[in-house]
Amino acid sequence: MALKDLFTKNQPKKKKYATIPETAKNDVPEGIMSKCPSCKKIMYTKELVKNAKVCLHCGFHFQMTAKERIDSFIDEGSFEELNEEIVSMNPLNFPGYLEKLEKDRQKSNLNEAVVTGMGSVNGHKIVLAIMDASFRMGSMGSVVGEKITRAVEKADELSVPFIIFTASGGARMQEGALSLMQMAKTSVALKKFSNNGGLIISIMTHPTTGGVSASFASLGDYNFAEPGALIAFAGRRVIEQSIREELPEDFQTAEFLLKHGQLDAILPRLEMVEQITNILEIHQPGGELEW
Ligand SMILES: [Zn+2]
Repeated sequence: MALKDLFTKNQPKKKKYATIPETAKNDVPEGIMSKCPSCKKIMYTKELVKNAKVCLHCGFHFQMTAKERIDSFIDEGSFEELNEEIVSMNPLNFPGYLEKLEKDRQKSNLNEAVVTGMGSVNGHKIVLAIMDASFRMGSMGSVVGEKITRAVEKADELSVPFIIFTASGGARMQEGALSLMQMAKTSVALKKFSNNGGLIISIMTHPTTGGVSASFASLGDYNFAEPGALIAFAGRRVIEQSIREELPEDFQTAEFLLKHGQLDAILPRLEMVEQITNILEIHQPGGELEW
């Protein structure tokens, strides 16, 4: 093309693109078929859901909502939610925060980015916390910290194990320092529980980042992750720029962290219940537990 052609009116018209509705952009659209972002194969959504949202072709783990996690992980009908009524305020008067919370409440059907409650896994009583990245990217506001702290205290009171599934974008910027304080608060609650002999199992799912990875997600007696999960404190580019070095391709994946001793194991979702049951059995105290 000659240089002058760049400035003529003969250039092809800009293509018009159809807008894709928000639901079609999701990992798993509510439609009949789903496409795997890893192997690009198409499968029936129904079959994918039946397979705990693990790709039938390549084993890619799709993100799960808290509700799906409850359905797939604990004994049917055993879940009893705790503190579901606690909602966030806007202590710093951050513009637009309350509206964003309301929008996410509508979208996710959740009050906050974590669901906590009691339940059982193959008959073993536990207290459970499950983060849900569809609410404010699973960010850690005061309510997230408070609900997790109360759940740990409940596990302590009942003398049952505490299990947490994490998924988070990190701190919640609209709550500033109050968000960061949740790292200390949850860590202290876990330490007290641990001192009283409590068992803590953390399962990091994609993505577990920022302050969550730097506090309660990494404080389990067992620290596990799902395959392929991104687990990080700071973003890759930030680190590369500050240390002026290129990082390996698999940096900040569950597999990389396992290799470097930061995880105890990677648990494929389809084996999750069985593996966690084994651990609960190992730690089962003698005699009947009071519930
Ligand atoms: Zn796949």
